[in-house]
Amino acid sequence: MSDSINLNVIGTIDSPYKEKFAIPRQPGIVTAAQGQLRLTGSANNAELVRGLAQFSHIWLLFVFHGTQAQGWKPMVRPPRLGGNKKLGVFATRSTFRPNPIGMSVVKLGKIEQQPSQVILHISELDLLDGTPILDIKPYVPYADIIENAHGGYAQEQPNNNIKVIFSNAALVTLDNNSEHYPTLQSLIEQVLSQDPRPAYKQNKADDKIYGMTLYKFNINWQMTDSSTLHVIAIEHID
Ligand code: SAM
Repeated sequence: MSDSINLNVIGTIDSPYKEKFAIPRQPGIVTAAQGQLRLTGSANNAELVRGLAQFSHIWLLFVFHGTQAQGWKPMVRPPRLGGNKKLGVFATRSTFRPNPIGMSVVKLGKIEQQPSQVILHISELDLLDGTPILDIKPYVPYADIIENAHGGYAQEQPNNNIKVIFSNAALVTLDNNSEHYPTLQSLIEQVLSQDPRPAYKQNKADDKIYGMTLYKFNINWQMTDSSTLHVIAIEHID
């Protein structure tokens, strides 16, 4: 048997997350994140999704295309452990894996059938824009929920609960764009309340002004004390 297998991409993700920084570490954490999965090639055929709409959630298997070129490491430092303890890559959800494959459960919305394009509307995703999808499977609660499963060092979702305050200028930009981006404020709040800074900065105030891109907006923010974050400016990128 050959040691390598060729797989075909069956779709591509349109996501508000245009860069890796600030994407939540798992799906389901940022409920305001909405995206689309556009089926591609021979998978772009409504027959492949017949019956899927009756499921509320789907598994997506995908390629970590944004980090793939950086290769992989046998041991990595999970941010959850403060970034200073190494574990075997197979004991983590790191993107730097021998096969750069990720898996996420996302919420399934409408399945749209355009004349030459099948689009799955999804939400609660943790995927970078342009992520290539390898497979879609329905989430089946009786098999996928395991009562009393042990989550090791990741037993519980981190509870950052950071208060996010918007400047007046940022609120004006949100207001001006509320028609096309009605969930942008919630998305920014939910993303930032996770504190996307590196692990060693968690729970600490910080002078640095950070930037992140969501949809077509550059967002500048600063952590002014250990539990309050200020959104300084939101700029629409033309
Ligand atoms: N839920 C998936 C899993 O468990 O396989 C991903 C977990 S991984 C810890 C989540 C991180 O993957 C996100 O914070 C984001 O930075 C990164 N990510 C998401 N999509 C990516 C992509 N296409 N390429 C590289 N990194 C990506």
